[in-house]
Amino acid sequence: MREGAGFSPEVKKTPYFSRLAVKFLLASSPLLALFSLGSFIFIPRFYQQQSLRSLADHAQNIARIAAYSAAPAVFFEDKETLSEVLSSLSRDEDLLFALLRDEKDHELASFKKISNLDFTPLLPWSRGISRDKQFWIETYDLDYQGKQLGQLILGFSLETVKSGAKLVRRTMGVVSFTLFFLSVLIAYYISYLVTGSLRRITQTAMEIASGDYSRRVHIASSDEVGLLAFSFNQMLDRLAETMKHLEEARSTLEQRVEERTAELQREIAERIQIEKKLRESEDLFRSMVESLGEGVVIVDEKEVFIFANQAAHRIFESEDRSLIGRCLSEFTTPDQFALIQEETRKRKTGQRSTYELRLQLPGEREKVVLVAATPRFDENKNFTSALAVLTDITPMKKTEETLRSMKDQLEQTIKKLEERNEQAYLFIQMSDSLQLAQNEKEIIAIAINYARRFFPEESGALYLKQKGYLLLQKEGAWGEFSFQADYFSSDECWALRKGQIHSVEDLEKDILCPHLLLEEKIPGPSLCIPLTSFGESLGVLVMTCCQEKKPGEKWSPEEYRAQRQWLALNFSQRLATAIFTIRLLESLREQSIRDPLTGLYNRRFLEESLAREIFRAQRGGTKIAVMMLDIDHFKQFNDAYGHDAGDVVLQEIARTLQKSVRREDIVCRYGGEEFSIIMPLTSEDIAIKRAEIILERIRHLEVHYRGNVFRKITISIGLAFFPNNGFSREEVLQAADIALLEAKKAGRDRIVIAP
Ligand code: GH3
Ligand code: MG
Ligand code: MG
Repeated sequence: MREGAGFSPEVKKTPYFSRLAVKFLLASSPLLALFSLGSFIFIPRFYQQQSLRSLADHAQNIARIAAYSAAPAVFFEDKETLSEVLSSLSRDEDLLFALLRDEKDHELASFKKISNLDFTPLLPWSRGISRDKQFWIETYDLDYQGKQLGQLILGFSLETVKSGAKLVRRTMGVVSFTLFFLSVLIAYYISYLVTGSLRRITQTAMEIASGDYSRRVHIASSDEVGLLAFSFNQMLDRLAETMKHLEEARSTLEQRVEERTAELQREIAERIQIEKKLRESEDLFRSMVESLGEGVVIVDEKEVFIFANQAAHRIFESEDRSLIGRCLSEFTTPDQFALIQEETRKRKTGQRSTYELRLQLPGEREKVVLVAATPRFDENKNFTSALAVLTDITPMKKTEETLRSMKDQLEQTIKKLEERNEQAYLFIQMSDSLQLAQNEKEIIAIAINYARRFFPEESGALYLKQKGYLLLQKEGAWGEFSFQADYFSSDECWALRKGQIHSVEDLEKDILCPHLLLEEKIPGPSLCIPLTSFGESLGVLVMTCCQEKKPGEKWSPEEYRAQRQWLALNFSQRLATAIFTIRLLESLREQSIRDPLTGLYNRRFLEESLAREIFRAQRGGTKIAVMMLDIDHFKQFNDAYGHDAGDVVLQEIARTLQKSVRREDIVCRYGGEEFSIIMPLTSEDIAIKRAEIILERIRHLEVHYRGNVFRKITISIGLAFFPNNGFSREEVLQAADIALLEAKKAGRDRIVIAP
């Protein structure tokens, strides 16, 4: 144990007075006191008993001697002797009275040293101490010669016995006290001697306690104390050894403590430095956070603010420091608060994230903030709070929304433009195709093909009015729904009646065209677009309208009108123009190759056709028959009935010729009253037979004109063949012409075959 540290016992010198001896003395003193008290009580009592016994013996001896002397005197009634006996008795100092009495209890003689002594209280007589404790009574029977004479009674004083006992008691009191005191002293001394070894051990222990570990107890005895001392010394040796180890350990420990202290001091200094830097950086961080334009908040896991900078208060439109302790739910709708809670659950797993949050501020105002949140954990890695940087993006959001709606509009416009562009491109393609079409059939086929592409969701039919016909005929159709009506009249369609588009959007409100009433079930709204060009009604395009622009997305009536009707109208106009043009072209071509009076092909067409047919026949190795026909004496007829009647005859003959040949044969008006017929793939026999039939039919022709009937019209026919009569168009025609001349020459109304 180190000096000056901890417990330090006060070193005491060995006292002359031993507490252990006192304790021993106190333990033995009751015994000593009992012994002294016994001596004090029992020795005087023993002495008194011994004195009483010697008095009793003395009294008995005296009584025996007196009775021996008095018995003959009583027997012989010798009063003198009796008196002498009594007087000799009276010389005894202790004898206070004597009494002689006979058998009948009559007093014979007596003496009393005490006057007025009354015997009554002492009766009956018996040996021993009297009842008043004043006398020792001694009785002795008087007999003489065997005869009972009476009794001698003596009364001795107890005063001597009492005074002796008193003296003994006093003496014993002094002796007992002295004995007690002496025995106490002796007992103390003995115990002092006995505990001497223990005191030495104690003294040594105290010296060791005061730090002197070299001290040992030297007791040579082999009793318990000696063993105690030996064990104590052993213990001390071990203690010394332990102390030595402890001292070594202490010095090592001290060294370590010093090193550790130095280390700790260094650490503390470093820590102070770090804390200082931390404080500085915290101050810097605080001033940065406070001066930041962005809101910075820390919320606990119940979404309650535990920190908020000035910018955050500005975002939440709250007074400075009033946000602390308030919950985010006060500033959000339930769905937005649920979003925050969902985000907090992510924080708890350590995730960071950035998300948009809508704040609900007083006056139904809304703000959008961009939240960049980071989780915070304590040293036990338990989630404590979330740090969030808030950026008010409301203006940006509004701009974004405006931009988005502008973008949407732009996209829609671009989409429309693209659609229009596509449609325009399709229209161009369609126009190109229509321009290349040779005839109306091709126009219709192209139109139906493009209708499928323009209106893939719709079904439609094209009804056209043909020249000379009253009804409109179904020329083509597309789509799933098939229109049943093949014909209807113009007045059965409202579009044709009005001369403008007729739309049926609501079957209950709008009037349905009569031609559609025949249809079994119109799938939806319908549209009739008249096909009109240059004021001429050409027909009608009938369409069912698909109400969906995309699956699940319906056209609004305005959109439909704007989009589909526009397209349908455009389509119809182009179609109408194409039909009109092709019809015009056909009519022009007809006009250019047909003779206007008879409707037959003209000479130019004949020559072109013959050249083509010769080319074909050359390739096929076939024959062509060429007929040249001339009305006989037609000049005369004209002259007789007039030119108009001649024209009617020309028309009738033309019809007869047309009816008399095959469809593939080409009948032409060669000029004036001359005709020619080209008959491809025709042998001589068939050609001759056909010519004969023609001659016969003309012979029997009756032409009615203005009440007149013209009969007996005849023609002459010259017949030539390719390749028999020539290899070229000119050669064959010439051969036929020569043959015709031959027929004229031969008398007319006949056939001449070129040689
Ligand atoms: P043939 O041929 O028998 O020798 O006697 P022809 O009188 O028919 O002969 P010609 O060739 O001399 O006369 C042709 C006449 O046909 C002349 C003309 O009056 C008549 N003719 C020609 N073209 C037309 C026409 O377009 N209409 C009418 N009405 N007559 C026409
Ligand atoms: Mg002629
Ligand atoms: Mg003629």
